[in-house]
Amino acid sequence: MSSQNPVFIPGPTNIPEVLRRACDIPTMDHRSAAFPPLFERAKSGVKRVLKMDEGEVILFPASGTGGWEAAVTNTLSPGDKVLAARHGMFSMKWIDLCQRHRLDVEIVTCPWGEGAPVERFAEILAADTAHEIKAVLVTHNETATGVVSDVAGVRRALDAAQHPALLMVDGVSSIGSMDFRMTEWGVDLAVAGSQKGFMLPVGLAIVGVSPKALAAMEGATLSRCFFDFRDMLKLGTPYTPAVGLLNGLGAACDMLLEEGLDNVFARHHRIAEGVRKAVVGWGLRPCAVAPALYSNSVTAIVLPEGIDGNALCRHAADAYGVAFGAGLGEVAGKVFRIGHLGMLTDVLALSGIAAAEMAMADMGVPVTLGSGVAAAQAHYRATKTDPVRAA
Ligand code: PLP
Repeated sequence: MSSQNPVFIPGPTNIPEVLRRACDIPTMDHRSAAFPPLFERAKSGVKRVLKMDEGEVILFPASGTGGWEAAVTNTLSPGDKVLAARHGMFSMKWIDLCQRHRLDVEIVTCPWGEGAPVERFAEILAADTAHEIKAVLVTHNETATGVVSDVAGVRRALDAAQHPALLMVDGVSSIGSMDFRMTEWGVDLAVAGSQKGFMLPVGLAIVGVSPKALAAMEGATLSRCFFDFRDMLKLGTPYTPAVGLLNGLGAACDMLLEEGLDNVFARHHRIAEGVRKAVVGWGLRPCAVAPALYSNSVTAIVLPEGIDGNALCRHAADAYGVAFGAGLGEVAGKVFRIGHLGMLTDVLALSGIAAAEMAMADMGVPVTLGSGVAAAQAHYRATKTDPVRAA
């Protein structure tokens, strides 16, 4: 039986009851007149969450990985050069996907815990006077390390070099939880998934596509079928749509927009700050190497030498019924991750912090019980909002 506790993994998130019910609707004929308003509501809601003034939102029955593939295959051709940084599991996997599609990836390798290297990108783009680079890939929020990258900075680097490459951004674990500005940042392809900031079950790949990316689509020759934007744009739903999830997506966007995106981001920041205070209280440190890189949706915490983060996560699940994120790739075993995105409150965050503290103490991490909880409590008390008035 699953635990009654909330999860503290960095997605899928806990699903608010109202969204769970919005997904659980009777079967609808997607060719009936009832479907288009439901579909339009979801797409227009996503446009507002992405802060998109122009372009298209395309929704696939897939996970975020499908969104990566859709972005790449619809706008690029075999052998095209793309620029990407490898600084965590997800940036690494997106690079792997590009390579399997026979793209020529210029990889900038950075230590895990750092963000996209904006200055290095600027140098490479400025030197590419023949404009061989067709796309720059940025993982906005590296979920493996809890690191946020400066997408606006990458846009500035492209503009400074007067470089026409497409800007593709993985916002799978940032969009809906952290500020994202598709049009203002000149993002050409933005990828999200239903199970993170949108707080839904997994099952939708969400892709924002700029007018420039739509123009690139016309000449792109990488093969695509299931993920072909052209079919989506021409037919709306070239195959059976995930109607329940789309209904949930409309409701999720309404929920985010009703709270106000700035309030949603401020709430995530406040909850995340409490988690980070707890980390300091434990005498530990985040994997992200500088405060400007701290993610507001997930914190990866570096464990002392000799403590296995994966064993810690297993223990937390077995002993307390609480799920934390294990370390991935290069930081597997060295970190554990507390996911703090979606509909969390400070009270829920405190329960996760308390459970992490117990699990660490059990595993021999020299933490004083209560130290992290007290540090987070102090932060939440000092920054409290009136939950009744806020509701
Ligand atoms: N990108 C990031 C930043 C992620 O965190 C994830 C999954 O956690 C993915 C891409 C892949 O998404 P999915 O697992 O939905 O395919």
